[in-house]
Amino acid sequence: MEQSVVLVKPDGVVRGLIGEIVSRFEKAGLRPMAMKMIWIDESLAFKHYGVDDEWFENIGQKIRQFYEEHGMDPNEEFGKMTNHQMGEMVQKWNVAYLTEGPVLAMIWEGPAGTVEIIRKIVGPTYPISAPPGTIRGDFGLDSPDITNAEKRSIHNLIHASGTVEEAARERQLWFKENEIYSKEFEKK
Ligand code: GDP
Ligand code: MG
Repeated sequence: MEQSVVLVKPDGVVRGLIGEIVSRFEKAGLRPMAMKMIWIDESLAFKHYGVDDEWFENIGQKIRQFYEEHGMDPNEEFGKMTNHQMGEMVQKWNVAYLTEGPVLAMIWEGPAGTVEIIRKIVGPTYPISAPPGTIRGDFGLDSPDITNAEKRSIHNLIHASGTVEEAARERQLWFKENEIYSKEFEKK
């Protein structure tokens, strides 16, 4: 079995989308193994994002790619910033975003491949690029150009672990062992 950590971010909670989001994972046949609503502090939010250099680098690369694909010059907005510095900028916005209200933190379990399946249900990072049928595509509108100009995170309703290793790290970061259900749900 494989587990993924999923967060309904504060915008998803405030917009009343908890039920909608949970129901999509249930209907896919995944099992909830933990669920709690918490209002986290900045220190947990900082630990959640940007643990390795790759994450910072990827943020910068994704921004540059989006701007270039949409006929915008990333250097106009970001000047001489490196990809890593762009990642640091987004990390600060993410801390503000994740702490602006309560979050629903969950662990979902399914067969091997579950981390990837959940990312498919969630959709790509930018709601504007996320196809309909995905959570971010159906309920989000944000794009990086608008939100970068407003100096805030892209509001995309939900977080889901990107890899099995990320899931294992986030499981420890967000939950105590006794908060995670481990018995079989099957009726006898
Ligand atoms: P995720 O795994 O799909 O959530 O994406 P990342 O791990 O790359 O980024 C984490 C979070 O940072 C995203 O969910 C967004 O809320 C925010 N974010 C990512 N890229 C950008 C960006 O280019 N601009 C802004 N403003 N926020 C971003
Ligand atoms: Mg991520």
